[in-house]
Amino acid sequence: MATNTQPKAALIDLTKCIGCRSCQIACKSWNNRGVKPTTLNGNFTNPVDMNSEAYTVVKFVETEKDNMISGWDFIKTQCMHCKDPACASACPVGAFEKRQDGPVIYHDERCIGCRYCMMACPFDVPKYEWEKTSPIVQKCTFCADRLAMGMTPACAKACAPKAIIFGSYDEIVSEAERRIKEHPGDYVNHVYGRNEAGGTSWMYLSAVPFEALGFKTNIPAAPLPDLTWAMLKTIPYKVGGLVAILAAIAYFRNRGASEGAASKKEREG
Ligand code: SF4
Ligand code: SF4
Repeated sequence: MATNTQPKAALIDLTKCIGCRSCQIACKSWNNRGVKPTTLNGNFTNPVDMNSEAYTVVKFVETEKDNMISGWDFIKTQCMHCKDPACASACPVGAFEKRQDGPVIYHDERCIGCRYCMMACPFDVPKYEWEKTSPIVQKCTFCADRLAMGMTPACAKACAPKAIIFGSYDEIVSEAERRIKEHPGDYVNHVYGRNEAGGTSWMYLSAVPFEALGFKTNIPAAPLPDLTWAMLKTIPYKVGGLVAILAAIAYFRNRGASEGAASKKEREG
């Protein structure tokens, strides 16, 4: 797949989001995602968090001012596409790859199911297909396939009030900083994602302190991969041996799947 190598980024301006969830629907449609059964929970967020079928979820958060409920804030969540991703560093078989143009993409054929990526991600993004017999990890792709064709991510395209904008990394950072500078009363003075975890390709602006919206605000500004390896070394078994076993399982799983597909084709052909 051809890629435009100029780094791209996206900005979500929460002050412009109207909670319509068009982004959520567009993501499902483009990425051919199904649905998981949900139950009513009274907080208007459905599903309550990202899952293997929902790469993006718009959360409804009730906010307070002066001890009074002041309104709703809508928070579109998805993979942050870190500039130096901890998931890629933690994965022993290179199933994650940070592309030069921005997306952190996942090679499911390499995955051995160890789920270190899930442990490593500071934003709690990668999700596992627990219910499947041959599960893989799922997460937002930054619509890498669309980017390769010169298109914008499906969610950004679908956002009518332009709460999501997409462009070159430098343009997006400048635009976020310009909005804060020119409208200081409208925003808290922080571009979320500018420095968190060493910087991310998706960033946010908000009128409400990010902590009050449930964002993780204790993420170090340094890239996390070094911390990831320090954490993995504390795991009390021989990681190399485990990886070899899991890789063998993944190999036979993938071979079984492709042989199954081949024999199905033969039967049908
Ligand atoms: S960038 Fe693409 S995959 Fe990611 S949330 Fe938006 S539509 Fe979904
Ligand atoms: S499409 Fe835009 S306005 Fe609608 S919920 Fe998504 S981010 Fe908010």
